[in-house]
Amino acid sequence: MSENLSSILDANSKYAESFGEKADLAMPPARKFAILTCMDARLDPAKFAGLSEGDAHVVRNAGGRASDDAIRSLVISSEVLGTKEWFVIHHSNCGMETFTNEKISGDLKSTFDTKEGYFINWLTIPDREESVREDVNRLRNHPLVSRDIRISGYIFDVKTGKLIEVVKG
Ligand code: ZN
Repeated sequence: MSENLSSILDANSKYAESFGEKADLAMPPARKFAILTCMDARLDPAKFAGLSEGDAHVVRNAGGRASDDAIRSLVISSEVLGTKEWFVIHHSNCGMETFTNEKISGDLKSTFDTKEGYFINWLTIPDREESVREDVNRLRNHPLVSRDIRISGYIFDVKTGKLIEVVKG
């Protein structure tokens, strides 16, 4: 067993001991909102946004971008599970600011000897605020997204832990 696995299982058994009433939580998020954010290990949405189990959906990917797959989750979130408000949260010092599509595709070609990387839009972030605006606009204008959903955009500052507004909801 890897060291990671044993520490995860250890933490999990402690967590499960006091799971208690969480067994009765409903599937739809109680606070009817969803957060789309980056997978960055420094961001903990439960902590920075004050979430408990059952409160909200959190969709994460590299950059917190409104990719087709993020949209898949958000559409399920609203249309099947009733969320009414979404928050797009990118952050400072994001790994996705550190390379371009061309660079990563080239690097992957050297590593794996395939051009597959060139077929992927890596959704890198050349301009942090612009990427938040772009994603909020993509969601707001998407044909599968109800005009009644309130969508706003923020940047999480990894130096202060603060959320900075970019697009008002
Ligand atoms: Zn990031």
